[in-house]
Amino acid sequence: MSDDQDNTNLVRFPFSKSGVSKTSSQSRNLGLTKLSFDVNPSGAGAKGHWCDVCKGIWYTYFLEVECPVCGRRG
Ligand SMILES: [Zn+2]
Repeated sequence: MSDDQDNTNLVRFPFSKSGVSKTSSQSRNLGLTKLSFDVNPSGAGAKGHWCDVCKGIWYTYFLEVECPVCGRRG
């Protein structure tokens, strides 16, 4: 006789308060600037810039300082 089967009733939810998901829920991915998107739509290797207004990070391959979403200069 074994009680092992009873353990299958315990379902562990993937989200936990101590997990890594904390940062991803606080910051949004605002995507690439138009200019950068034309160069490489995948966004691989682009530099991220934080936007205070959008509470998110946008990406560029150039020396751009303007958020592509709200237009704020950072
Ligand atoms: Zn913004």
